Amino acid sequence: MTNKPIETDILVVGAGPVGLFTVFEAGLLGLKCELVDNLDKIGGQCIELYPEKPIYDIPGVPYQSAEEHVLALEKQISPFEYGLHLNQRVSEIITR
Ligand SMILES: Cc1cc2nc3c(=O)[nH]c(=O)nc-3n(C[C@H](O)[C@H](O)[C@H](O)COP(=O)(O)OP(=O)(O)OC[C@H]3O[C@@H](n4cnc5c(N)ncnc54)[C@H](O)[C@@H]3O)c2cc1C
Repeated sequence: MTNKPIETDILVVGAGPVGLFTVFEAGLLGLKCELVDNLDKIGGQCIELYPEKPIYDIPGVPYQSAEEHVLALEKQISPFEYGLHLNQRVSEIITR
């Protein structure tokens, strides 16, 4: 991430499933997100801890591996413009 200020509507800390779906919901409302994650990839626990594990409790999806779930979320947010900042840990938030 550069030191240049970035203007955004929403700062999303964490690119796990919840952060990724937040980008989708915000996008539907016409809001832009900057997505920040400490890891070197998106997907949170799904991709870091159990990419091969089957997930059976996603509404409308009988079966998906955790990796497939993350790929689906990535595809779902692809129509929207968002900034992605990996290998970046948020340690402080200062509001003005
Ligand atoms: C082995 C295992 C199996 C599971 N199986 C299922 C299942 O079958 N079905 C189910 O519904 N749930 C399952 N879960 C739970 C599910 O993985 C979590 O509920 C889900 O990952 C939560 O998503 P999240 O986006 O809120 O958080 P996470 O996936 O935890 O992602 C949070 C992200 O935020 C980043 N982050 C945190 N703090 C900062 C910071 N300060 N700065 C930058 N980045 C930060 C982290 O690096 C991480 O990538 C399972 C969990 C485990 C461990």
